[in-house]
Amino acid sequence: MKTIKTIQAMREVANDYHHQNQTIGFVPTMGYLHDGHLALVKEARKQNDIVVASVFVNPLQFNQSTDLNHYPRDFDRDERLLKAEAVDYIFYPNVEEMYPKELSTELSLAKRGDVLCGATRPGHFEGVLVVLTKLFNIISPHRVYFGLKDAQQVAVVDGLIEDFNFSTELVPVPTTRESDGLALSSRNVRLTEDERLEAPIIYQALQAGQSLIVNHQDWKRDDILHLINDYLQDIQGTIDYIDCLSYPGLSSDIQAEHDIIIAVAVQYQDARLIDNVILRPDGKFKYGGEMNATENAK
Ligand code: AMP
Repeated sequence: MKTIKTIQAMREVANDYHHQNQTIGFVPTMGYLHDGHLALVKEARKQNDIVVASVFVNPLQFNQSTDLNHYPRDFDRDERLLKAEAVDYIFYPNVEEMYPKELSTELSLAKRGDVLCGATRPGHFEGVLVVLTKLFNIISPHRVYFGLKDAQQVAVVDGLIEDFNFSTELVPVPTTRESDGLALSSRNVRLTEDERLEAPIIYQALQAGQSLIVNHQDWKRDDILHLINDYLQDIQGTIDYIDCLSYPGLSSDIQAEHDIIIAVAVQYQDARLIDNVILRPDGKFKYGGEMNATENAK
């Protein structure tokens, strides 16, 4: 495994593999890796000749400088974990390498950006679009892997790839969870002991929403929102949003044939947690690999 820090070197390596007709799978991350990231890497390893993972804490996608400054980092550990997964290259540029001067172009969202994290984190997805456009152009991966924990990101990147004709296939990977249901996140280390004990309630609330859809064919969006709001009303964290939308269109006008996302964001003292379930119209999980409510209760 090699660590590459410059755009030029990364581009040359990727070009070489393109000339040899080798497929490249790419996993973009902000580091401080956990098993959720590694699930993406494992999937990439299965499907491609060459695997590239990037570790770059992208300042453009942080709307709060405190969150950026507190973002956990441990590159030596990340390197060890990626080596153990037989990753071929880590792209590890610094901020000056990625943003040597002020950008003269901006990207903005025409759709899918005014709800969920797009509404509560202004500028976040615009920053994601910029960094991914750069990374896609540097690496030209055949496949790119994203976690469904960040389901809105998957929907937004899906639009980016289609709109701008990137010749890369987006591969969504189901959320990896702790045994108590909490979605793995690099931010979980910033939870206090009490908050960590409470946090699994977020996924339990989402599962309650799922049960409502499974058991009541005539469910209404408001029923879901009220149920989850009631479920979470006594938590110590502050609810940032609770929503139920079509997926991947992210419209509140849900039609019978639509897949659905139920999504929650909770702000704890020093960590903002997000989670979701993505369901078929009958309430079954759209993507495999999720825990169902009975498994969780064991
Ligand atoms: P981040 O480092 O937070 O930018 O995440 C990098 C990638 O890992 C993104 O595609 C995330 O959606 C994905 N990811 C983060 N947490 C999880 C998780 N618990 N399960 C699956 N994928 C995840």
